[in-house]
Amino acid sequence: MPGRNHLFVPGPTNVPDRVLRAMHVAMEDHRSSKFPELPLGLFSELKKVFKTRDGQPFIFPATGTGGWEAAIVNTRSPGDKMLACRFGQFSHLWIDLAQRQGLDVQVLEVEWGEGAPPERIHEALAADKNHEIKGVMVVHNETATGVTSDVGAVRKAIDAAKHPALLYVDSVSGLGSLDFRMDEWGVDLAVTGSQKGLMLPAGLGIVCASQKALGQRAAAKCHRVFFDFGDMITANAGGYFPYTPALPMLYGLRESLTILHEEGLENVFARHHRLAEGTRRAVKAWGLELCAKAPQWYSDTVSAIMVPPGFNGADVIDTAYRRYNLALGAGLARVAGKLFRIGHLGDLNELMLAGALVGAEMAMRDVGIQNTGGAPPHRCHPRVALLPRTRRRRRRPSRLEPKSGHEPYSLRAGSPQASAERAGGAGLQPGNVLQGAGERGGLCLPRSRGRRRTGR
Ligand code: PLP
Repeated sequence: MPGRNHLFVPGPTNVPDRVLRAMHVAMEDHRSSKFPELPLGLFSELKKVFKTRDGQPFIFPATGTGGWEAAIVNTRSPGDKMLACRFGQFSHLWIDLAQRQGLDVQVLEVEWGEGAPPERIHEALAADKNHEIKGVMVVHNETATGVTSDVGAVRKAIDAAKHPALLYVDSVSGLGSLDFRMDEWGVDLAVTGSQKGLMLPAGLGIVCASQKALGQRAAAKCHRVFFDFGDMITANAGGYFPYTPALPMLYGLRESLTILHEEGLENVFARHHRLAEGTRRAVKAWGLELCAKAPQWYSDTVSAIMVPPGFNGADVIDTAYRRYNLALGAGLARVAGKLFRIGHLGDLNELMLAGALVGAEMAMRDVGIQNTGGAPPHRCHPRVALLPRTRRRRRRPSRLEPKSGHEPYSLRAGSPQASAERAGGAGLQPGNVLQGAGERGGLCLPRSRGRRRTGR
């Protein structure tokens, strides 16, 4: 298919050309006297992204799953009790990993679409009078449901219960896109991967450990070799690794951290919020619901969009992929088929996102989801909505153009029929869609900046 693939799964994300170029390096001696400049620089730059002063980052040639395992095996022993919340496929998989390491996990089942409940965590810890629970495991951003948890509130719950448990946080689809405050939130083990907010290919599992967590290593009896912090600490001190490092990934990481710092972390977070808000407005305009049950859970990196009953999210995804070269994220496990996901994280701007929203709408209409009655998505993003409205010209359908049926939306778009269909959903007259639908959708699209209302 001509043109670029539009990659809108919530990881791997688009790798900026600058990062790709930075990774295009000849192999070198990773034991040379010059080599340590690279890792030592990475360790100090990573600490800024985790927002930690005393935490120690570890870079494994692995993925987020490896990071989960490293966090557990370096600090825990088989039989240790853990408290974890399950509200999506990734929180489930982390619990599964801990159980397979022999840990005894007390699971708080939470409705999928909600996040970690600080009150229930407090209750469970307060009831644990003998402090048998050694750690609390929380997924900061549950990628399967598009839910962000309030990690700071979890820390407050642990402190309110005066409980010494370590706080283990998965921020695989959060770090580098969502604000993450390791020191302020008292996170003891923070886990991430390279292929999401860090805008790299998959291949690095990164863990940042607090001094308190590192202090528990000696007593931790879980088997570990490849993921042993001890070997890393010894080698990393001089800027080396205990095994051959993934050199291009390290050069790529240096470039992606530079990009993040050039934009400014706070600006990065604000951009993700703005783009996520644009996506949410499109979902509202389509008349659809997010899997996330309430605004407090809305994720700024991924939106999981429920398809109406009777439809299969997998059909939307497959149609988007085959007809429009657009990759959307699938529903996983319990929500398989019930939703599709748009990843809006990493190296992304308004017009890229607008392409994904338009493509998702086209695919939905192709599979028969007709309730896209609101504003066309390209009007939904707050920034895009600032553009002056233009009069839409009616196009005569070509004689070659199919008149009806199930042909791709791209073939039908703009035809009087498509216009009527669209208007029908919103109860509007054809030709009046752009203006009317936006207002009807309650989007309050602002007028172009600086234009005064003259009352005309
Ligand atoms: N945690 C979360 C929240 C994720 O989204 C993912 C992957 O998408 C993982 C963990 C697992 O990471 P990986 O696939 O890099 O092993």
